[in-house]
Amino acid sequence: MAKAPVLTPRTDDFPRWYQDLVAKAELADNGPVRGTMVIRPYGYGLWERMQAEMDARIKATGTQNAYFPVLIPQSSLAREADHVEGFAPELAVVTHGGGKPLEEPAVVRPTSEMIVNEYFAKWVQSYRDLPLLINQWANVVRWELRPRLFLRTTEFLWQEGHTAHATYEEARAFAARIHRDVYEDFMVNVLAMDVLPGRKTAKERFAGAVNTLTLEGMMGDGKALQMATSHELGQNFAKAFDTRYLSPEGRQELVWQTSWGSTTRMIGALVMMHGDDDGLRVPPRLAQTQVVVIAVKGDEQVLAKVRETGDRLAAAGLRVHVDDRTDTPFGRRAVDWELKGVPARVEVGPRDLAAGTAMLARRIPGGKEPVALDTLPARLPALLEEDQALLLAQSRERRASRTADVATADEAVEAVTAGGWARLPWAALGPEGEARLAEHAVTVRCLVAGDGSVPDAEDAPGNVAVVARAY
Ligand code: AMP
Repeated sequence: MAKAPVLTPRTDDFPRWYQDLVAKAELADNGPVRGTMVIRPYGYGLWERMQAEMDARIKATGTQNAYFPVLIPQSSLAREADHVEGFAPELAVVTHGGGKPLEEPAVVRPTSEMIVNEYFAKWVQSYRDLPLLINQWANVVRWELRPRLFLRTTEFLWQEGHTAHATYEEARAFAARIHRDVYEDFMVNVLAMDVLPGRKTAKERFAGAVNTLTLEGMMGDGKALQMATSHELGQNFAKAFDTRYLSPEGRQELVWQTSWGSTTRMIGALVMMHGDDDGLRVPPRLAQTQVVVIAVKGDEQVLAKVRETGDRLAAAGLRVHVDDRTDTPFGRRAVDWELKGVPARVEVGPRDLAAGTAMLARRIPGGKEPVALDTLPARLPALLEEDQALLLAQSRERRASRTADVATADEAVEAVTAGGWARLPWAALGPEGEARLAEHAVTVRCLVAGDGSVPDAEDAPGNVAVVARAY
């Protein structure tokens, strides 16, 4: 008889599989207030690795980290009309403090454009203060009506960048640079994810932005997930907050701004992009544990060998965990590491000692083979790079095989319902077609130019709409 699956199979019920995996791989639990989440150590470890990789890329653009308060006066939120309208339904508002009603209620930040601009307006005096490039790692709250762990939570962790520039061209180029050199580079080269860069339609744009760039990923069930966004804010916030600089010619000019964000949603994306019926598969370049060395039995010689192997692999530059919890049966531990998606498992048992061998189990391609322990420090790094490349190739193959070129909105709905994405000329769809798609819960994920680049304008000739159901 086949053994009972640990997770609900993906083809039976994808959302249930996702929930099972998040729980059993010990990534997160639901918080006590609906929509909130507790991120468990293994999930938080993934986030810390994401932060480290992203932070280095963010700093390489010349951006510095800072911190702004979580509470924002309601009046400052009200200063940019589109922004407040867009966010009003999602706000959490603090009305009492210290047991008394507050004179002015404070909003728990859903994003920080407004509070950042209160200070940019003070800090920017002359052209010499520009560009001003700030990033913040923080939590934000958006009162989500349909929460899902990691994908859409009421409180989430993120980074938010906020910049001010002297010219429109410079701001625009900076938003594009963040999108390409920070987000896309990180997602492709660390997360091993195929992502589609594009431009949001006016309907899907960030409230208060003049242009939103997005990266869309195709999940294992063919739905789309918005992975990160970069916004050109034009001068909307500069006007609302009177953020001006003295130009070299002695004129007072409004600044041009950008903002950009990526969140703990990327952990959900990792699950839905690379997970399989046995659990998560973590790309080696991201993994906080790239290789786990497991003692099959609690015999002293085995434990000594396992620790020595762990030290040698760590000395070879790998991120290693030694599993010597032999009070838990080996089979249970092996399933647990499988669920957590650690790329390589080196299993050492009593019979291996004399021969100097171990079993190497590779989570990403699957399968097990006996290996000589001496060869592992030299071989494993290359095998992990193969695994990294395989995950990226698999995600590219998924999008290529599940995207259909169609001609009409009806055909697009049909293709999307069959479980994938559809592409059609934006000229054949337009805002009216986009509204019709919404009746079928299908959205325009982004517009791409005919040559695959990100279009300069919504109505540029040759623009293609990429449509899908989305998380
Ligand atoms: P925004 O500030 O609206 O452009 O959002 C920035 C990024 O946050 C988006 O690209 C989304 O991927 C992500 N995001 C938006 N809402 C949530 C949420 N409730 N939970 C997790 N991530 C979110």
